[in-house]
Amino acid sequence: MSNGRRDLVGLSRAEMTAVMAEIGEKPFRVKQLWHWIYHRGSTDFAEMTSLSKGLQQTLSELFVIGRPEVTQEQKSIDGTRKWLLRLEDGNEVESVFIPEEDRGAVCLSTQVGCTLSCRFCHTGTQQLVRNLTAGEIIGQFMIARDACGEWPTPRDGTRQLSNIVVMGMGEPFYNYEETAKAMTIAMDAEGIAISRRRITMSTSGVVPFMERCGRELGVNLAVSLHAATDEVRDAIMPINRKWPLAEVIRACRAYPGAHNARRITFEYAMLKGINDSPADAHALARLVKGLPCKFNLIPFNAWPGAPYECSSMATMKKFAEILNDSGFSAPIRVSRGRDISAACGQLKSESVRSRKNRDEESEAAAAV
Ligand code: SAH
Ligand code: SF4
Repeated sequence: MSNGRRDLVGLSRAEMTAVMAEIGEKPFRVKQLWHWIYHRGSTDFAEMTSLSKGLQQTLSELFVIGRPEVTQEQKSIDGTRKWLLRLEDGNEVESVFIPEEDRGAVCLSTQVGCTLSCRFCHTGTQQLVRNLTAGEIIGQFMIARDACGEWPTPRDGTRQLSNIVVMGMGEPFYNYEETAKAMTIAMDAEGIAISRRRITMSTSGVVPFMERCGRELGVNLAVSLHAATDEVRDAIMPINRKWPLAEVIRACRAYPGAHNARRITFEYAMLKGINDSPADAHALARLVKGLPCKFNLIPFNAWPGAPYECSSMATMKKFAEILNDSGFSAPIRVSRGRDISAACGQLKSESVRSRKNRDEESEAAAAV
């Protein structure tokens, strides 16, 4: 418990410098603290042997190095790990680690719930509760490092937790400031040290922030497209009425660094009879013609009460083939952690459901 003490996690270097100045400490202390917090993963000032005992004591009276509380961990048979995390105010979010042979991505959430009601997304059925702070966003990654024992920060190229994908709950560009701050901490070479090339931010197409993200952070961009025409996109993603396809694509074409080596990823959930016809695939290829990009075809992950079904494998293969023939890479994404419902974009749904079930069960029990 923080007991009113201020959490140092999530402060920018400038903020940490100001906080140290308040207690009369010089800027070089920030370098030391940063090393302990983000390179070594320390959560206890008493471990910080480069600081005097007196300073360790002062810091522990005033500050904490916080982590969200892990309330549940699940491990899939394929190695995917999912953590349910409780925040200071009792709200919960999830993050997921998806390991691959010699690398792995941690999927982070940026909001509790989401304001955008994409019809295929379970998060979209939950109201926005609040934005996460930078500390809560980077804290999810630090929990994953704790769990995998990956402190101090290993050399790049030898890490299990090598990548970050901002594809959990929420729309990162509706919480831009805190998300950007968290990513700046993640990229800091003296700390967590994940290069911008290994970070991918996923947006439903909040046009004004696409340019800003490219300019300020320079991370990879993934855009949830899910349709090749405004008609279909309007029906499944209400945000399209605000920023229609043409504007989204224009912003993609202008995205800094969107050259061949760092192509934009278009996410496309395959919805049976909605967006999966050969005509849709041809329209899609025309829409993004000349844009350095790749597609990620996501088999729709159904949830109870979902208004859609997943396209058949044959339909998805045909769709991918048309995109391939037009010169685009378009793998059908293999669902990871299916047994633990770890799909990004569907986070926390299980826990909300199971809690609801529990509540209903206890209500039923109380009624007896
Ligand atoms: N809000 C951001 C990032 C989180 S969602 C965004 O929309 O881009 C991560 C990805 O999963 C998005 O492409 C989202 O559209 C997709 N997604 C959400 N629900 C899904 C479902 N039930 N099946 C397949 N993909 C889904
Ligand atoms: Fe929000 Fe993304 Fe889900 Fe749409 S797909 S409701 S933007 S989390």
